[in-house]
Amino acid sequence: MDAAVKPSATQARCYQRRRPEQTLWYRTVQTHFETWLALADGPGDESTPAYIEQAFRRYLDCGILAKGFARAHCDECGHDFLIAFSCKGRGVCPSCNTRRMAETAAHLTDHVFPRLPVRQWVLSVPKRLRYFLQRDTALQGAVLRIFLRGVERCLREHSPGCVSTARIGAIAFIHRFGSSLNAHTHFHCCIVDGVFQAVAKIVETADTTEPITSVDFHAATHLDIVAIAQVQAKIRQRILRAFVRRGLISKGDRDEMLSWEHGGGFSLDASVCIGGTDRAGLERLLRYCARPPFALEHLHTLDAEHLLYHNPKPRTDSPRDLVLTPLELIDKIAALIPPPRAHRHRYYGVLAPNSPLRAAVTATAPLPVVAPPVVEVTVADAPPHRAASHYLWAMLLARIYETLPLVCTLCQSPMRIIAFITEGSSVRKILEHLGESTLPPKVAPARGPPLWEMEAAHRQAGNDTQWDSRPQPEPVFEFDQRVAW
Ligand SMILES: [Zn+2]
Ligand SMILES: [Zn+2]
Repeated sequence: MDAAVKPSATQARCYQRRRPEQTLWYRTVQTHFETWLALADGPGDESTPAYIEQAFRRYLDCGILAKGFARAHCDECGHDFLIAFSCKGRGVCPSCNTRRMAETAAHLTDHVFPRLPVRQWVLSVPKRLRYFLQRDTALQGAVLRIFLRGVERCLREHSPGCVSTARIGAIAFIHRFGSSLNAHTHFHCCIVDGVFQAVAKIVETADTTEPITSVDFHAATHLDIVAIAQVQAKIRQRILRAFVRRGLISKGDRDEMLSWEHGGGFSLDASVCIGGTDRAGLERLLRYCARPPFALEHLHTLDAEHLLYHNPKPRTDSPRDLVLTPLELIDKIAALIPPPRAHRHRYYGVLAPNSPLRAAVTATAPLPVVAPPVVEVTVADAPPHRAASHYLWAMLLARIYETLPLVCTLCQSPMRIIAFITEGSSVRKILEHLGESTLPPKVAPARGPPLWEMEAAHRQAGNDTQWDSRPQPEPVFEFDQRVAW
């Protein structure tokens, strides 16, 4: 190979510092967040919840070297680079959202789902009911329980030979958003396609007989459109009844909604099923279920006053491209930030943390792929409860982009973190030495109207040379600069 070509090809696969301050979304928040906040908190309005303001403020510090960093060092050639702290926020920060999605999917694939077929069940409810669901987490939980109980009953009926107490194993994701940044609470559940039951057995050894409990799996069969339509009808009845019980709709409304045709706004889809040996497929499905509400690569500048959000999967009732002012965009993203302590996914049935069968069911998850899959594991053999594994971000990146980030760009040796620098004067000294900016990007103060003329004049005056108005290029790979490795 030509020696002159080799380093650049390798370099493209090595670590490149993420520069969030150059992205369109960062610049939008940086320029307009204070104005949005002042308008949202205006007289007569409810003040913005603290968690929303905090999420945006922390995002503005995420990946910014001037706010502190870790130092990675190559022992082989002495090369150093810096890794800025990340915000670990939920909802606003594209980098931290992506990391959370990858981490969740990897954990569930490697440590939770047994090597059995998994089906995705997606439930959405009529717009009239969504209004109540959007802010009421207790109501979301109640609807989710009705949904999962309905699926459990169906899977029992379609799993020959199981007992009436057999349980399903499910992970439920509550989505608060649709594909066009709209508020749309709906449920994605990944459910093992069958049911589990405990079976008491007597094991005879040379000198003793010992009772043990093992888990039997009964695979679902003949789960066709008719069966799924029956589940949908049952769930619809029960959910409407629950809304009446809570006084959210009247009995008359319920009867009217039950008379609507074509599901009456309820939709249940169960067409996606992943085979027991397709672990990569399962991880892809779980990433899809754990995905963040918006993706940076779909955001573009349209003109001086408008941004364009491209909806990759428009439905018949939603637009392909959304044209928004920066304030409207911030408004939409703010509405999708989950409230603190709201769980993004929940475990149900044999996968619930308190289930006596959980350890035995999840024990097959880390095994190498075998066909046909193992369907029976004794409780006695099950490993002790594992703490949620903490993934190295480096390893996660390797899984997504098939490359290890902590590799020296000069000699390709592995690098390691040798220090964390958080003290202001040391941060400044090091950044000055490297020629990096020692100040965090300036957050624009709140402005009154006319907002846009001022912004345009500012840009024309040449004060905005860093502004990258082109569509954001895909990064070679996204590198989350969190330091908790
Ligand atoms: Zn972040
Ligand atoms: Zn090196």
